[in-house]
Amino acid sequence: MRTIGVDVGGTSVRAGVVDEHGTVLDTARGTTPPGEAALEDAICAVVSELLGRHRVSAVGLAVAGFIANDRRTVLFAPHLAWRSAPVADRISARLGLPVVLEHDANAAGLAEHRFGALRGVGVGLLLALGTGIGAALLVDGELYRGAHGVAPELGHLCLVPGGRPCECGKSGCWERYCSGTALAATATDLLARAGTHSPILSREAARDPGAITGRAVAAAAREGDPVATAAMSALAGWLATGLSLVADVYDPELVVLGGGLSESAPLFLDEARDRYHHLITGAGHRPPLRLRTAHHADDAGLIGAATLAATHS
Ligand SMILES: [Zn+2]
Repeated sequence: MRTIGVDVGGTSVRAGVVDEHGTVLDTARGTTPPGEAALEDAICAVVSELLGRHRVSAVGLAVAGFIANDRRTVLFAPHLAWRSAPVADRISARLGLPVVLEHDANAAGLAEHRFGALRGVGVGLLLALGTGIGAALLVDGELYRGAHGVAPELGHLCLVPGGRPCECGKSGCWERYCSGTALAATATDLLARAGTHSPILSREAARDPGAITGRAVAAAAREGDPVATAAMSALAGWLATGLSLVADVYDPELVVLGGGLSESAPLFLDEARDRYHHLITGAGHRPPLRLRTAHHADDAGLIGAATLAATHS
């Protein structure tokens, strides 16, 4: 029986009908409104649109936030309206279908393990590099969630004491140095230095300072812009530094990169691997890091949530 997965993000709500092979058969989308009731209306609207065209047995929601271990309550979601909200029960009552919740990175990790780059991997890690870092750890095919359902929040490991402030309330978090947002911040810092040579980014910043996004920096790096290239190299270094700490705790067999920044992986992946090998504990006496890009890109969260719904319905 088919299920529906819904990716509930900070800007859009995207639903898809998914079969038992992880194939997305049909999709519907809406924008993410502010306020709990409007958000739940938006989710029910995209799911109802698909229910008009397909018969499904259950619905899974991939949410950018902390989910309680019973996967029925959203504890906290920084970019969404829910706070300790019994979302699964409320949506289930409205749709008349079983509903299960999962952290969006966990859902993406599950999709990669069942149908993508982490298939058959014993200890696998997914890092989604976008606005921040989303992380999922799978051990023998099971998601590791910690005692209270909030692990692993690797993006908020402090790499730089007293460093860039983070929305989580701390400073110097890994994701402030290793994400699309971080790439833009690093390039902006470099542009502010005297004597900087940057034909592409300087021109864009002069026209509109807001134009310096992670995507713009990646595009400029592809054209050989020196500042963009230096920002990309810094990102590779921070990726390697963070992964070397992660290796001390989890010793993963394979790390898979997803999120928007993974589209630019050819610009930083080899350098990150090289630098990692000089940083890890026991360097030179451990197997090389296996680091590659995700298989499902944008659809991973939706597919993972639908897969989870199939096993819980
Ligand atoms: Zn943080």
